[in-house]
Amino acid sequence: MATAHARHASPLERLLLSESFDGEALVKEPMARHTSYRIGGPADLFVRADSLSAARQVMEACAEAGAPCMAVGRGTNLLVSDEGFSGVILTLGRDFKRMSTDLATGRITAGGAVLLSAVVQEAMRQELSGLEFAVGTPGTVGGAVRMNAGSREEWMGSVVSSVVLITADAGIRRIGARQISWEYRRTSIPADAVIAECEISMKESDPFFIRGRMEANMARRKKNQPLGLPSCGSVFKNPEGASAAKLIDDLGLKGRTIGGAQVSEVHANFIVNTGGAKASDVVGLMELVRSEVEKAYGITLEPEVRLLGFS
Ligand SMILES: Cc1cc2nc3c(=O)[nH]c(=O)nc-3n(C[C@H](O)[C@H](O)[C@H](O)COP(=O)(O)OP(=O)(O)OC[C@H]3O[C@@H](n4cnc5c(N)ncnc54)[C@H](O)[C@@H]3O)c2cc1C
Repeated sequence: MATAHARHASPLERLLLSESFDGEALVKEPMARHTSYRIGGPADLFVRADSLSAARQVMEACAEAGAPCMAVGRGTNLLVSDEGFSGVILTLGRDFKRMSTDLATGRITAGGAVLLSAVVQEAMRQELSGLEFAVGTPGTVGGAVRMNAGSREEWMGSVVSSVVLITADAGIRRIGARQISWEYRRTSIPADAVIAECEISMKESDPFFIRGRMEANMARRKKNQPLGLPSCGSVFKNPEGASAAKLIDDLGLKGRTIGGAQVSEVHANFIVNTGGAKASDVVGLMELVRSEVEKAYGITLEPEVRLLGFS
C-alpha cells in the first residue's frame, strides 16, 4: 500500500493509495538506494508492482496523467542525476521473481525481476549451455534484455526465444525474439515497454564444459574490473573496430578524478565512485574523457550507461 498522502488525489495517486493496489509506492525515494553507483537524487514516486495487473495499472495511470514512467531493475547500468527523476520509477516485485525450467525443451522462463545471476546458476545446475557469457553480469533479466547485455561477441539476443511485454496502450503480449532486432547494447523493444518475462533457450551440454567457461569468464572479470568500488560497468560503448578502454588508457586518463568520481586505475572504461561521488562528478568526467578521445582520434564515444533525470 502507498505511503503517499493527498487530499485531491490524481488517478495515479488514488491507485497507489488504494488498499487493493498490489505493490508499494514510496514518495521522494532517493535513487542512490537503488543504483550500483550509489548515486542519484529522489524519484517523485518509486513504485513496486507485484503482479502483471498492478504493473499495467501503474503504466495506464501514468499514461493518463502524462507522467513519465521508467522501469528499473537493479540499477546497475544507471546514472541518475543529483536532482533525481520527475516521474514514476517502476520496479517489478513478487510475481516477476519466478523462474521455471523445462528440461525437455532446454528452456528457462524467468520473470523480469529475476537476477540474471540466478538464471546463470540454474543453467549450470541443469547442465544447460548458452549463458556462460553472462556470468558475473549484475542486474535483472528485464535489464539484461533491455540492454541486450553480454560481451562483444555474445549477448542476450542470441539465447532469448520470447519476451512478455507490458505497454500502456497494447497491454500484455508475448513476442518472439525474431520479431526483435538485437544490436550491440540496444534492441528494438519499444522504449515505453516493461519486460515482464523472458524465455531463454539453451542446449544440454557437458557440465565440465559449462563450469570451465564460467570460471574462465569470472576470472577474467576479477582480473580486469574494479569490482571493489561502486560503478555501472562500462561507461561507453566500444566504437566500431576499437576498444573504448584502450583508447582512454592510451591517453593516460586512468586515475583522472573529478570530485568522488575516478577513471578506474584497473579498467579505463569504468568510472568508479571512490566515495561520495555526485552524478555531476561522473558526468563531468564522462565529458572530459569524450572530449579528449574526440580530440585525439576524431571518435565520439557513445554512453553505454543509461542517464536518467538529466535534461
Ligand atoms: C560491475 C559491473 C559489471 C557489468 N558487466 C556487464 C557486462 O559484462 N555486460 C553488459 O552488457 N553489462 C554489464 N554491466 C551493466 C549492467 O549490469 C547490465 O546492463 C544489466 O543487464 C542491467 O540490469 P539492471 O537490472 O541493473 O538494469 P537497470 O540498470 O536497472 O536498467 C538498465 C536499463 O534497462 C531498463 N530496464 C530495466 N528493467 C527493465 C524492465 N523490466 N523492463 C523494461 N526496461 C527495463 C531501464 O529502464 C534502463 O534503461 C555491468 C555493470 C556492473 C556494475
